[in-house]
Amino acid sequence: MTTMVATNRRSLCVYCGSRVGGHASYQRAAREVGTLIGELGWQLVYGGGRAGLMGIVADAALAAGAPVIGVIPASLMERELGHSGLTELHVVQTMHERKHMMAERSDAFLALPGGIGTFEELFEVWTWRQLGYHDKPIGLLNVDGYYDALLEFIGHTLDKGFIDMSQRDLLEVDNDAPLLLRRLGESAERAGAPDDYRRI
Ligand code: AMP
Repeated sequence: MTTMVATNRRSLCVYCGSRVGGHASYQRAAREVGTLIGELGWQLVYGGGRAGLMGIVADAALAAGAPVIGVIPASLMERELGHSGLTELHVVQTMHERKHMMAERSDAFLALPGGIGTFEELFEVWTWRQLGYHDKPIGLLNVDGYYDALLEFIGHTLDKGFIDMSQRDLLEVDNDAPLLLRRLGESAERAGAPDDYRRI
């Protein structure tokens, strides 16, 4: 772990695939988000690996001058290729510790294309938000329509009465990375409620 500690920076937690996916646009979007984090003077919090889109977003953020904080369970160091070039790499014991630290160290969350790990992380912070455990904004970057089917399903759950519009509206969706990051930054600025992760 290197020692540079960033303070007073907006901290964006990015959830994304440990694979690159089957379309070059996903890698482009990961690179764009990493670069934007640097250009905005923010820092990146993510899962700490070099694998897939995770590695791409981290390398782009580092290249753009952003501090990058990785949090990875010891058991995944090999599988997800723990990144040795980060500003901080926290090797924790469990997945729960990982998710807790990532959430605690962040002011906002953003999901890029990914698989079930990404879905789980996104849905967890979304449910934590609706329960009032935190007040941090949550974005979904719908790169090339990757999440269209999920958004359609969420519309279906609305129609069938299992979620309501106030819950749906907690998710800020866009296909334009600069716009979405700006929105998340503004929402984070407005968010005032203290986090209470001890209740989780
Ligand atoms: P994936 O989207 O499946 O490629 O996974 C993206 C990231 O999510 C990887 O760092 C996984 O280790 C992580 N992940 C996988 N399962 C979980 C889980 N149950 N909770 C939180 N993160 C997970």
